[in-house]
Amino acid sequence: MRKNLSQNWKAAIFYILIPVLLICAVLFMSNQNKRADVKYSEVVSQFTTNQVSEFELDLSSGLLRYKLFSDKKTDAPKTYTVPSVGYFIDDISDSVKEYNAANPDNQIVYNYKKGAGSSWLVSLLPTLLFGVLIVAMSIWAIRRMGNTIGNENNRALGFGKIKTKNSADDSDKTFEDVAGCEEEKDELEELVNFLKQPERYTQLGARIPKGVLLVGPPGTGKTLLAKAVAGEAGAPFLSISGSDFVEMYVGVGASRVRDLFEQAKKKAPAIVFIDEIDAVGRHRGTGMGGGNDEREQTLNQLLVEMDGFGTNSGVIVIAATNRPDVLDPALLRPGRFDRQITVNRPDTKGREDILKVHSRNKPLGPDVDLKEVAKDTIGFTGADLENLMNEAAILAVRNGKKAISAQNIADASSRVEMGTEKKSHKYSEKAKRLTAYHEAGHAVTSFYIEDYHPVKEVSIIPRGLGAGGYTWYTPQEENFESKLSMEKSLISLFGGRVAEALVLGDISTGASNDLQRATEICRDMVTKYGMSESVGPVVYDDGNGEVFLGRDYGKVNNYSDETSAKIDAEIERLMREAYGKTEAILQAHLDKLELVAQTLLDKEKINGETFMALMNGTAVQEAPADEPAEAETVAEEVAETPETEQ
Ligand code: ADP
Ligand code: MG
Ligand code: ZN
Repeated sequence: MRKNLSQNWKAAIFYILIPVLLICAVLFMSNQNKRADVKYSEVVSQFTTNQVSEFELDLSSGLLRYKLFSDKKTDAPKTYTVPSVGYFIDDISDSVKEYNAANPDNQIVYNYKKGAGSSWLVSLLPTLLFGVLIVAMSIWAIRRMGNTIGNENNRALGFGKIKTKNSADDSDKTFEDVAGCEEEKDELEELVNFLKQPERYTQLGARIPKGVLLVGPPGTGKTLLAKAVAGEAGAPFLSISGSDFVEMYVGVGASRVRDLFEQAKKKAPAIVFIDEIDAVGRHRGTGMGGGNDEREQTLNQLLVEMDGFGTNSGVIVIAATNRPDVLDPALLRPGRFDRQITVNRPDTKGREDILKVHSRNKPLGPDVDLKEVAKDTIGFTGADLENLMNEAAILAVRNGKKAISAQNIADASSRVEMGTEKKSHKYSEKAKRLTAYHEAGHAVTSFYIEDYHPVKEVSIIPRGLGAGGYTWYTPQEENFESKLSMEKSLISLFGGRVAEALVLGDISTGASNDLQRATEICRDMVTKYGMSESVGPVVYDDGNGEVFLGRDYGKVNNYSDETSAKIDAEIERLMREAYGKTEAILQAHLDKLELVAQTLLDKEKINGETFMALMNGTAVQEAPADEPAEAETVAEEVAETPETEQ
């Protein structure tokens, strides 16, 4: 919205004002041309000395056309624009009348034209427009210089105004809408109490934190929590996103921060919510190549504002980020965001509660057990779950059902997790074969790895971002990865590439993502977890895996070239070792690989149960049809969608 406005301004300058300016100039010049090089006094004297034989005076524009007796033969009238017509008439009318009275046969012919007022306006128009133009341009210039000055006046013009969402649309959110983060809510409860009854705290001299930082992955409900705090306390919720601050013109961000806090103080007690604070709150002084003055100014202004208002002024700043590591330490100092609340992905119970919240107004079929759904959605955030229930409802509608069935939720779940299936996407038989062996390779290898994640679904239906197919495991909840489990992951990752090499005698690019992940695991094992014997139990990674542009620029490795070579050698050794193990597994079970791949080519997608039946050699039954036949459309959509079981 704001951007549009400022763009409109520029468009106005270029497309309207400049042509107007040109027109003005032309009019001005043509007006000027009308003026003969005669002086007013000279004209008057020509009249009073009776040299004029005939004249016409346009009273509205002041344009005078006259002929002199001496010029009668030439027929070219003199023209003159009379600046003040009234005075002019006063000056000449007596002499003209006198002359006409005295010379009845040689009269001065004259005509006073009473033009409409408009033509008088027209003559003034260029001047007016010119004035308007100048005013407009100066306003524009002031705005552009912007709010580095930030005085009352230019803010009165609406510049640097932030778009704050009014509490009206958010006040309906309460803690009831936020499920599965009980500890977080407990911590925030205190803020609510303070906003409701600040006196209770101030009387006892208590200091309430000025700023609370919500940290957690996207979609875990940080924004929702902040809104709920405002909603619970009935306080206004002023929100802005860090990315909004990053504007074109220097100084705008800082002005917005100022404005935000000004509004908050007026409405106190109030919640100021800064989303994505990492966009503006990154370490200062790290900008590469000239840096980012705008961001730094904004950050500085934020710090100034947070220090500026009194501890108990009733404004509480809540910020959200998923990158607390990149925040400028100044932001985390006492008196600023000194309290951090981590918002985690929900656990099983949490997911169940969130599912309940998001199925409040959705009729569920009798076969739906949200507890089961919760168990099947490890790693889902609140936003994912919300999306899941929404997709399920859409599938049910498409299906012509009155309620959401368990099957709808299962289908929606793979949709949400893997992206939307692209059945229409045609790919060549060759590519299909390659994908089938690749995925079968992953699945079969995993089956023979002791205690490895059970296969939940294998598919060669292309989904989302260029993924050919996928093998989906039922993950086990575990908080740490052991050396053994990492080695198992490596073997299962190599399954795809090895199967391609063994069966098709050729390898594809499809495995590059697998190889990348395998390499990462090996590097971590060697440099982070000290799991390599030859390199030793030394950590060569400072735990700051991501190279943050600027800050880490020019950082030197804290180890020698010799060590570096050793690390590389170890990584290669681990990779080769795992590759060898994978090869051994698949060599021994080529028949199973073939069977699974053929089934995949046939059915495109097989579920965990069918997969187990294939592997165990038990009679291959069709996927258990525990669902009564679905309506045609959906039956086609999700043909052999599996039961998603543990
Ligand atoms: P974040 O700000 O952490 O990225 P949001 O608060 O924007 O996440 O969450 C997006 C949506 O996901 C919310 O509007 C809500 O519908 C849903 N959601 C997320 N977490 C929860 C939760 N704990 N309880 C209920 N719904 C949630
Ligand atoms: Mg958010
Ligand atoms: Zn793969």
